[in-house]
Amino acid sequence: TRGRRWLFADQLGPHFLDSDDQPVLLIESRRVFERRRFHRRKAHLVLSAMRHRAAELGDRAHYRKVATYGEALTKNLSVCAPTTFAARRLIEKHDGIEVLPSRGYAIGEEQFAQWAQRRQGRKLVMEDFYRDVRKHHQLLLEGDGEPVGGRWNYDQDNREPPPRTTTLAEATGVREPWWPEEDEIDEEVRADLDRWAAQGVEFAGEDGPRRFAVTRDEALRALESFVTTRLEDFGPYEDAILTGDRWMAHSLLSVPLNLGLLHPVEVARRAEKAYRDGDAGLASTEGFIRQVVGWRDYVWHVYWHFGDDYRRRNRLKARRRIPAWFADLDPDGTVEAKCLSSALASVREDGWAHHIPRLMVLGNWALQRGYDPVAMTDWFHTNFVDGYDWVMVPNVVGMALHADGGAMMTKPYAAGGAYINRMSDHCGGCRYDPKKRLGEDACPFTAGYWAFLDRNRGEFANNHRMSRSYAGMGRLKDLEAVLEQEAHRGSRAP
Ligand code: SF4
Repeated sequence: TRGRRWLFADQLGPHFLDSDDQPVLLIESRRVFERRRFHRRKAHLVLSAMRHRAAELGDRAHYRKVATYGEALTKNLSVCAPTTFAARRLIEKHDGIEVLPSRGYAIGEEQFAQWAQRRQGRKLVMEDFYRDVRKHHQLLLEGDGEPVGGRWNYDQDNREPPPRTTTLAEATGVREPWWPEEDEIDEEVRADLDRWAAQGVEFAGEDGPRRFAVTRDEALRALESFVTTRLEDFGPYEDAILTGDRWMAHSLLSVPLNLGLLHPVEVARRAEKAYRDGDAGLASTEGFIRQVVGWRDYVWHVYWHFGDDYRRRNRLKARRRIPAWFADLDPDGTVEAKCLSSALASVREDGWAHHIPRLMVLGNWALQRGYDPVAMTDWFHTNFVDGYDWVMVPNVVGMALHADGGAMMTKPYAAGGAYINRMSDHCGGCRYDPKKRLGEDACPFTAGYWAFLDRNRGEFANNHRMSRSYAGMGRLKDLEAVLEQEAHRGSRAP
């Protein structure tokens, strides 16, 4: 391909270019941040990443600061298909832009379409997809094509509750994550964002030192550090939550991955090498590879497969507005429920929380309370440092809020306080009791779980994976009182 390559802000790695001397166009639009309220940390990361890329490319980069993309578009441009429906529509409106297949995923869109077609209407099961990706890329396989260790899935070994310590390091000796050092580009970005804020652009959350890699070089260092010092502990504790240890043994690579700085297959191969070198165990390595080339790719393909209307599905008729205390990330610390206040603080302070606070605390809460799925998708997208449209539409509509009627997941991720109590250390210090569903100290997750089941009886009562829950509900003598209590709670902060 000849001509200038237009790089979106999430296409910053070398694999989005065709040669070492290809000229590049990068477009920074302040209006993106004026139209929606983004987390301050996220705005910083995206701008810092783009400006660092431009600095690396030097004369090859044409860096345009404009109000709208249209102003910067010229003829003779090529672009790798961007990551959202809206961006693809925008490109179609402009003549003379050559659109190449998307890059940066384990499997191409064509290939996924063929895979989906071969399933002939059967559910698009992540596990099946993931095994095909492993085979396609020869990841973690023995010579004869069988999975290393004889099993494809080590989830069973990767569900440990948290240790009884304040931090994971106290229990396992796991090292700190790799942290970047800010430079003059970050300083400039911070000054610009301060100025924009003073001029009325609204940001969510708090500013603070940059936590994530924004250049290829940083991303490779973060990857190297993770696989050699932290991957070992990732697997067993990937679902566990400690109040005093936000990062646990998570990789913090979702930001550079979603900025396009690392290719998922390269990340998976590096993890596999760590396993083969004896730096990490098999269950941990498999669990990590599953996230990076399984779940991540699956969500990407589901986004395209279900089409642009998928985002508006609302099978459970969830129409409640997100209350201000939740939308604004509990700015005054009024939330007393420890699990929620801790998850919201993590997002407020860092624009990040790992997948279990996202799904089982924040998502579970929104599901139970019937928050509007479109608004929740937007909330996750704008507040999380690694959130993009393609990430959040399937994760929120399909996974967390079950708004797609089960197209993605067979059963909603609704859970009471017992799950949170098992997988975190929150409940001990909470004013609520995870075992209580009624009264002053009734856990709002436990009570909310029953209210959710009751409200959606028509949808789930015949789902055999929910039958035990409904049988349990049938035995509750105080159900009416619990429902009344929950109706009374309304949208107030718990
Ligand atoms: Fe959360 Fe309930 Fe546990 Fe409190 S008791 S931390 S509200 S699950």
